[in-house]
Amino acid sequence: MTTTNPTRDRLDGQLLLPGDAAYDEARTVWNAMVDRHPRMIIRCASVGDVVTAVRTARELDLEIGVRCGGHSVLGLAVPDGGLMIDLTPLGGVRVDPVRRVAAVQGGALLGALDRAAQRHGLATTAGNVSHTGVGGLTLGGGMGWLARQYGLACDNVLSYQLVTADGQVIRASRTEHPDLFWGLRGGGGNFGIVTEFEFRLHPVGTRALLAEYSFPLESALPVLRGWRELNAQAPRQATFTASIGRDGLATVGFVWVGDPRRGRRLLPEFAALGRPVAHRVIEPSYVELQRMDDVVGRHALRRYSKGHYLREFPDAAIEAFLRRGTVDGGGENLPNVGLQAYGGAIADVPDDDAAFAHRGTMFEYGTGISWADPAEDADRMAAARRAATALAPFASGVYVNALSDDGADGVRRAYPAAKLARLTGLKDAYDPHNVFHLNQNIKPTSR
Ligand code: FAD
Repeated sequence: MTTTNPTRDRLDGQLLLPGDAAYDEARTVWNAMVDRHPRMIIRCASVGDVVTAVRTARELDLEIGVRCGGHSVLGLAVPDGGLMIDLTPLGGVRVDPVRRVAAVQGGALLGALDRAAQRHGLATTAGNVSHTGVGGLTLGGGMGWLARQYGLACDNVLSYQLVTADGQVIRASRTEHPDLFWGLRGGGGNFGIVTEFEFRLHPVGTRALLAEYSFPLESALPVLRGWRELNAQAPRQATFTASIGRDGLATVGFVWVGDPRRGRRLLPEFAALGRPVAHRVIEPSYVELQRMDDVVGRHALRRYSKGHYLREFPDAAIEAFLRRGTVDGGGENLPNVGLQAYGGAIADVPDDDAAFAHRGTMFEYGTGISWADPAEDADRMAAARRAATALAPFASGVYVNALSDDGADGVRRAYPAAKLARLTGLKDAYDPHNVFHLNQNIKPTSR
């Protein structure tokens, strides 16, 4: 019998076992609460390594975890006692500036894509923290500052190369496995391991503008009302944001990608919202903009988060947003809360074009909390849950990449019933044994 049990010399990359020098670093992901021990880690340096890894896991009956950026808040990339397929050595990006296409390997981080495309004044939608993985972000949808102009990251994928549950290498595009192409655009890591994404790029220039105005919570209700009304008229280059952070202030603003002079035309309307206690207007380069939250979003802290999609944002929701799950918005160790506007090109795409759902979203709500001391785990997580629960009556669904410990209920909130049924059909066809289940899982019919 041939064996697919990998030996170090059969791989282009590395096999790491407990006790190996690089093992602990390789099993460490973004959320410091995740401390699991895979039986083996294959650091894949080629598509052949990914095939070997999948076949090995199946032969040894090991649970598979797939790692790109490692940002899954649950640490789904790290299977306890299983086989971790670490794609990070596959981090390359090739840009064809003439065709305006980027070929991005399945383990690449967003920063690599942004930097390579910006050398030509190009970009495609990517998230707001440059050490997030292209893999997990794009497979769930992929929201970023360009989405209102050019659609979500998944709307810009031209093709996927992936390794299936039975170790085949196939491509999915509008003409090859079009059913799978539909499911990969928003269906998460359920159908295979993507080894290459081909993205459409756009001539966005290299400049951006960010404006923020901060108010005490007591005076923030009318400000947020005005901000909501302005958002309804906002140009697509502008993505409106609102947040309450550690300073306890309510901050409203927008991010603009394109000529900053045009973005500045929105400033008088923001200035008229009220008298802020602090404000800033800056003109970062696009690459700087994309790195701006890298430190706040850094690795090595304990993390918990929750999210909702909001189709509307009535006054009662504004009040709940400002209170963050407390009686009056006051208290210690409250989570950060934030809103980011959808609309524009996201909503132009017909709903049945891709697995991604909830294109009619007005704002995405997120609450996140970070801390260092394990003794605080329960209190911190409870605080974030309270904040999210307060917004739940206004929610219309959730972004699959914002799910944490929501389980099957969360998956049902991410995909309306008809989409979930179609995704289940795809899972039956491409992964009937649920080999890829460490994700926001779409179960095949038989499981
Ligand atoms: P990983 O933990 O490596 O992967 C998560 C899951 O994705 C894996 O379990 C696997 O199922 C799947 N996966 C990853 N790569 C592949 C692949 N190549 N093939 C098959 N399956 C794969 N989301 C946004 O849309 N916009 C944002 O601006 C944004 N900002 C974020 C900022 C931070 C700091 C964090 C922590 C998250 C952010 N997110 C954002 C959410 C993010 O999209 C998800 O956490 C996503 O799962 C991260 O992907 P990853 O590759 O980094 O994570």
